[in-house]
Amino acid sequence: RRSAEALACYQPAILRDGHRVEVVANIGNAVEAAQAVDAGAEGIGLLRTEFLFLQRATPPDEDEQFDAYHTMTRALNGLPLIIRTLDIGGDKEVPYLSLPAEQNPFLGMRGIRLCLERPDLFRPQLRAIYRAAATGPVRIMFPMIATLDELLVAKAMAEEVRQELNAPKVEIGIMIEVPSAVLMAPELARHVDFFSIGTNDLTQYVLAMDRLHPSLARQADALHPAVLRMIDLTVKAARANGIWVGVCGGIAGDPKGAAILTGIGVAELSVSIPSVAAIKAKLRLHTLAECRALAGAALQAATTAEVRALSMPASLAVA
Ligand code: PEP
Ligand code: MG
Repeated sequence: RRSAEALACYQPAILRDGHRVEVVANIGNAVEAAQAVDAGAEGIGLLRTEFLFLQRATPPDEDEQFDAYHTMTRALNGLPLIIRTLDIGGDKEVPYLSLPAEQNPFLGMRGIRLCLERPDLFRPQLRAIYRAAATGPVRIMFPMIATLDELLVAKAMAEEVRQELNAPKVEIGIMIEVPSAVLMAPELARHVDFFSIGTNDLTQYVLAMDRLHPSLARQADALHPAVLRMIDLTVKAARANGIWVGVCGGIAGDPKGAAILTGIGVAELSVSIPSVAAIKAKLRLHTLAECRALAGAALQAATTAEVRALSMPASLAVA
């Protein structure tokens, strides 16, 4: 028999005033899809497909990718799976692609930019995804979108593949992780079904601090008010266009971060597998009114230290 505490991870994260936040997981392979379900995740908010391309000599072909995605939809048994298309480049190198060395890889040919240049990689992946969509609720997500043009070209390629396969439509979303995408969010929102904010990259690009730099790691904190204000802008733009917003960067798995994001209006938190139960438990302690008050204070703060020092305001809305 499992204790009530152990079983709580399988219950949804419902705040004390009834507001529900979806808690899903970030994964990199099929084994982790099963582990995420065991940990209580309500689905997968981010499948980092580049992990299927690492530590091997050639790229996985369409069939191999389809098999991997299918194994995941089977493990998820009806729970949603957001498949992020390849985000190679930046910190994720793939030796067999022999991509030219770059001076600034995080500002170079990475993510969707590389995929648009390399249909030989992008098309088989899109085909595998549309085939997998017949086996469970799959959504497509494009990484590193910086301009509307990129989104429209990527969507056109996806649509071409879909028609080729005669497959049904699937929801399409984008990562919001580049400052230009935040500022253009009202325009981008008209062309997608959802946004997922990648706070790891967004923090690096907003603060101009390399996410891997050992001396900057402490300062490159997604709870910096500049990053939070970017998230707030994104949520407002999404709301105005009737689409939902998730966060799949590391700050979603931080207890204070989760409460602030919920208060800003983020609907879905995608966290590492070990954080699923803890984030659900943390959210259940609060009301949405409390989270909103906390978020309001965080958005007014001048420094990360001020945000980190905030405590949850006393409840405004408990009977
Ligand atoms: C992010 O940038 O926050 C993100 C979730 O994507 P990745 O860490 O894979 O770049
Ligand atoms: Mg990213």
